[in-house]
Amino acid sequence: MTEKTLFEKIIDREIPADIVYEDDLCIAIEDINPQAPIHILLIPKKPIPKLSDCDNNDKELLSHLFLKVSEVAELCKIPESFRLNINNGASAGQEVFHLHIHIMGGRKFNWPPG
Ligand code: 5GP
Repeated sequence: MTEKTLFEKIIDREIPADIVYEDDLCIAIEDINPQAPIHILLIPKKPIPKLSDCDNNDKELLSHLFLKVSEVAELCKIPESFRLNINNGASAGQEVFHLHIHIMGGRKFNWPPG
């Protein structure tokens, strides 16, 4: 059996986290090292390592996640303006290999990102 990812342990309540939203398919938690006043991680419960590992079987899950973004942003009181980020692969900055969408808000973001 493969070891649980960090986020599976959070989903299974083995590691504590500040949960802002949860349903059958996903969970949204506060990032432990926030890069903005609001920094949420929206995580599918299915432990897909990274976005590029998704296939047609994940269509519904991906659409669910992206439709949840606005709802989570609203819950976190940043409905108007937020930055999404998905790191795909180590050289893109991915550290936790369980797909997640960063939802950040509450400050001005620059473009291009670093
Ligand atoms: P990545 O670099 O993989 O795109 O993002 C992983 C994110 O998970 C980072 O922003 C990091 O701060 C966050 N993180 C790492 N460990 C924990 C943890 O134990 N709890 C929470 N809530 N976030 C974590």
